[in-house]
Amino acid sequence: MSAPSTSSSPATAAHAGRPLVTPRTLTLVCIVALALAWGWLPDFTVAVLSNIGLYALVAAGLVMLTGVGGMTSFGQAAFVGMGAYATAWICTSPTAAGWLGGIAGSALVPWLGLLLGLVLTFALAWALGAVTLKLSGHYLPLCTIAWGLSLYFLLGNMEFLGGQTGITGVPPLVVAGISLASPRALGVVIWAVLLLALWALHNLLDSREGRAIRALKGGRLMAESMGVDTARHRIKLFVLAALLAAVSGWLYAHMQRFVNPTPFNLNIGIEMLFMAVVGGAGHLWGAVLGATLITLLKEKLQDILPALLGTSGNFEVVVFGLLMLFVLQRFADGLWPTLARLVSRWVRPVAKAPAANAAAPAAQLAQRVLPAAGTLLLQADAVSKRFGGLIANNDISMTLKAGEIHALIGPNGAGKSTFFNMISGVDDPSSGQVRLEGDAMSGRPSRAFAARGLGRTFQHVRLLGQRSVVENVALGAHLRARRGWLAAMLRLDRAEEAALMAEARKQIERCGLGAHADTPAASLSLGQQRVVEIARALAGQPSVLLLDEPAAGLRHLEKRALSELLGQLRAEGLGILVVEHDMEFVMNLADRITVLEFGTVIATGTPAEVQANPRVLEAYLGGADDELLEDAR
Ligand code: ADP
Ligand code: MG
Repeated sequence: MSAPSTSSSPATAAHAGRPLVTPRTLTLVCIVALALAWGWLPDFTVAVLSNIGLYALVAAGLVMLTGVGGMTSFGQAAFVGMGAYATAWICTSPTAAGWLGGIAGSALVPWLGLLLGLVLTFALAWALGAVTLKLSGHYLPLCTIAWGLSLYFLLGNMEFLGGQTGITGVPPLVVAGISLASPRALGVVIWAVLLLALWALHNLLDSREGRAIRALKGGRLMAESMGVDTARHRIKLFVLAALLAAVSGWLYAHMQRFVNPTPFNLNIGIEMLFMAVVGGAGHLWGAVLGATLITLLKEKLQDILPALLGTSGNFEVVVFGLLMLFVLQRFADGLWPTLARLVSRWVRPVAKAPAANAAAPAAQLAQRVLPAAGTLLLQADAVSKRFGGLIANNDISMTLKAGEIHALIGPNGAGKSTFFNMISGVDDPSSGQVRLEGDAMSGRPSRAFAARGLGRTFQHVRLLGQRSVVENVALGAHLRARRGWLAAMLRLDRAEEAALMAEARKQIERCGLGAHADTPAASLSLGQQRVVEIARALAGQPSVLLLDEPAAGLRHLEKRALSELLGQLRAEGLGILVVEHDMEFVMNLADRITVLEFGTVIATGTPAEVQANPRVLEAYLGGADDELLEDAR
């Protein structure tokens, strides 16, 4: 699974003096140390560690949901409750025993309890997600509070679940004939499940679907344009986090051997969110760190605070609140990045071996057959867009053929970017029709446009700044690969992933950014970031390419390289529609030019025709614009 060690190669010999421990080795050492010490730890420590493991499992789901996916849930404890109650009920209820017949009371039943918990949680989380995840801003967290409370009260008020008293007599788990009645034995299972979950989530994030998940927070519009169904990904992420919580609840019920509603109330849901956020919003190990810190702190505070204040009460919640404020002020990304930085002195970062060096990837990405030159690719028929009283696009008609570069120019505010959004499905026209290779597309989402071979860049660059250039570009090839969440978690997607990475690197090379492939996108200049967007669009193997001001911020030589690249793409048969203010760039490159003013087409033709058009001259020379056509001459 791991890349072959390169420590003996001459290139890394220079680092011989540096510590050789990698994060992976360090993790393994910690796990082995914990495993070796497990038999000798005091009972109390084992109990605390088991609790930490159970919390960390829920927090890991929240790291995915909140830290990575940007969806805040206060209601996670309710899903833990579902997992716990499902197994407690099926293991103890006479009704369930009646249904189960011969196997009632056997070691199999707790596993049916797990299945029941997962199925119920899946159904409920999917239904809740479908309703609440459409909400934006503060409404989503508020809604999670609402259903967190409802589920808690439901558990406490259902007669057959024992009401406030709950259910006692939950049997221990039995695995392969071994009873896990002792906390020490069950703790091993808890930590094994946690580590397995962390491994699977880590794999998921390091995959095609993982890149789509990372785009959910702040990059949804862009991701949709790359073909990602972001609403569906949000629901799946929500369900995944809920299922992890349910598994934690299942283990909890068989650890405590009884359940009652108290551990699943809103307070605990909030604590779980604390853990994920304090530990490290977007870092999986932050879940373990957060669960450890909060659990230990809670133990201590519950001892100290009542003595200090002279009365008992849930004062630790107050302290947690203050702690959360402090941590979020000082460590916006949680404590894990800080800890990782401190440890980094002893840890050698793993250099990801570029896939390009590996043997030819076994998997093939989907290939698009480009239409013959001259084929009508894109057609806008009388497209209009009104924003309230403002007519941003007024009856715009135009066409784009395979093998041509069509430029759209016009003063600022003329409606060029609005038109791009109309013809790429980002926004729907108020009237008119957009066709891709003859198919009517108006009203369809932008991912449908992407699937029909439309690639685009954005005037205001939309990249995942913290992620590397190659990851950003690979997102552009999302639709050319198939492997889903489960395959990614189990690492069955490696061949396809290598093919995606190879394709991304190829496009980055082609766009002249080879040296920056592994740097975070945000550290590039704005001009370079625009080129990254072009590479990302090309990774999708588009037949239509929409570029919104691609040359802005580029230096002279970079502009020339971009010109050459676009010329080459045209020769390959792409249809390219480009909005650009640099008139020299446009006039030398475009086959046809359409001029917009106040949302209306005022001229269309070859560069020479447009430059000679009196209305265009008036629009440019008459206004106070600095984009004089004279530039081009
Ligand atoms: P360009 O890209 O040619 O500079 P835009 O398409 O960005 O122009 O904008 C055209 C006009 O539409 C501008 O007057 C702008 O203020 C307005 N506009 C653009 N988007 C919106 C929106 N979402 N809501 C309201 N007005 C908008
Ligand atoms: Mg614009």
